[in-house]
Amino acid sequence: MENITDINFDYIIIGAGSAGCVLANRLSQDKDNSVLLVESGGWDNNPWIHIPLGYGKHFDNPKVNWMYHSEPEQATGGRKIFQPRGKVIGGSSSINGLVYIRGQRQDFDLWDPESKYGWDYNSILPYFKKSEKNMDIHDEYHGSDGELSVSSPRDLYPLAKAFVKSGINMGYPLNKDFNGATQEGFGHLQMTIKNGRRSSSSTAFLKSIRKRKNLKIYTNILISKVLFENKTAIGVLGLRNGKVIKLFANREVILSAGSFNTPKILQLSGVGPKDVLDEFGIKNISVLEGVGKNLQDHYNGRIVFKTSNQHTLNAVMRSKYRSLFEGLKYILFRRGFLNMGSSVSAGFIKSKQSLKRPDLHISLILFSGDKAGTMLHPWSGFSIIVRLLRPKSVGSLRIKSMDPSEQPQIHMNYFSHKNDRRLLVEAIKITRKILGADPIRNECLEEHSPGPEIISDKEIEQFLATKGGISYHPVGTCKMGIGNDCVVDYSCSVYGVKNLRVVDASIMPNITSGNTNAPVIMIAEKAADIILGKV
Ligand SMILES: Cc1cc2nc3c(=O)[nH]c(=O)nc-3n(C[C@H](O)[C@H](O)[C@H](O)COP(=O)(O)OP(=O)(O)OC[C@H]3O[C@@H](n4cnc5c(N)ncnc54)[C@H](O)[C@@H]3O)c2cc1C
Repeated sequence: MENITDINFDYIIIGAGSAGCVLANRLSQDKDNSVLLVESGGWDNNPWIHIPLGYGKHFDNPKVNWMYHSEPEQATGGRKIFQPRGKVIGGSSSINGLVYIRGQRQDFDLWDPESKYGWDYNSILPYFKKSEKNMDIHDEYHGSDGELSVSSPRDLYPLAKAFVKSGINMGYPLNKDFNGATQEGFGHLQMTIKNGRRSSSSTAFLKSIRKRKNLKIYTNILISKVLFENKTAIGVLGLRNGKVIKLFANREVILSAGSFNTPKILQLSGVGPKDVLDEFGIKNISVLEGVGKNLQDHYNGRIVFKTSNQHTLNAVMRSKYRSLFEGLKYILFRRGFLNMGSSVSAGFIKSKQSLKRPDLHISLILFSGDKAGTMLHPWSGFSIIVRLLRPKSVGSLRIKSMDPSEQPQIHMNYFSHKNDRRLLVEAIKITRKILGADPIRNECLEEHSPGPEIISDKEIEQFLATKGGISYHPVGTCKMGIGNDCVVDYSCSVYGVKNLRVVDASIMPNITSGNTNAPVIMIAEKAADIILGKV
């Protein structure tokens, strides 16, 4: 095995996920920069990673998944909630549901309210466009020359069409591009798919540049902490096959280990809340109370219907002949259910007409099971996921021990804020009305869950508390901004130390209105320009 300890690089990036792969690409564009990308997982060789529907296979595969759990909490029925995270080159973008949603203009305007620091919508739109190669939409909101392929669905199934039509019949607008001028309305989702294959951060940003002489990629190394000389980051300490290794950075260490692991590494390194550092006797390098706080995600409710419509994955999987046919369709034409991401169509709607922008996200999934990642129901079914776009419940995390391989203690605090409880109940009622409208009404045989007996607000709230699911969008644990609760400034530099940045989902001050992969890739694009002094 190559001896890789005590080596120097200009930049060391920790974590080859959605953000890390973009950074590795952009920082190594200049031949004079030597760049190291370190990943705890292995290469993305599992063929199911690259088949869109294959994402369901990685939920319980520890070879590519950190398999964390959050702590049991009263507001969610005392359940330990499963928290999958990619542990593989490409990170969570290698195991996610492939939906491409950027969020709303106002999300970013809130990140930078006075448009002073380059993170307001007008300033970041060019970075969304820079990475993007949109196959189907060509206008001022989209890019055509980037590495990340984004495409519209090749197959529009009858249930998807009926769902969108019902939304329109209920008075909501048709939206042909959720990432364009406005997010509001009903329509079909674009996916990070290129000719029937997943476009992950790995395949998009790393694959073609792997051989650059100034870029090294080390896999299967668990980084345990950042090394400091006084208050300057000089490198990292890691474990490879039980052996301790040290890697040194001449210029910067960049943490892109995601919303759970980045704050964990910071706390282990002596950057974090005083009580946490003191509890474990960790030398205080920079006391930052915000490390691990401000944790946000999209908690959701799931409505499941039995249907007579046979264009569902449940129906396909129950027939050997149809499964075989789907396999052939995919191999020959890259079409069919294997070319499908998690959800296919969605509505971004306002719970009240008086609102300025949508606050609810309901999306259609062409299969059903009791929980995400579990067996499909033995009948034809579909699911509707109902989410609040900007929940108010906020959680936190902290290390449990000094052992870098132990997961942090994660308190998600899902569904704890009274506004979230009220609004999600309302959202279920609104969604039921949409499902009662033509033409989707004719496809609904029976509401399997919550079920027709769950009617009152109290019953719905109880159902949501005990059966609600999550969206796998944890963000915010190293908040960007100015103030005591912030961990990084607007150039992603960690407060109180030198030569250390955080660039990943953890820096989002507020969760974006929708899925989080696209905004994380945008963050990395912008951060790369900041690091290289281009802005
Ligand atoms: C099951 C699932 C479904 C999702 N569906 C969607 C979707 O459909 N659309 C969407 O937009 N978003 C989706 N998301 C969310 C989205 O993928 C994430 O928000 C995004 O990938 C986060 O990017 P990141 O760079 O912050 O972290 P990650 O992509 O998770 O990258 C972090 C990387 O750091 C590595 N790492 C961590 N700790 C260490 C360490 N100590 N040493 C070395 N390496 C380390 C990890 O192994 C990982 O590769 C989904 C996520 C999941 C898990």
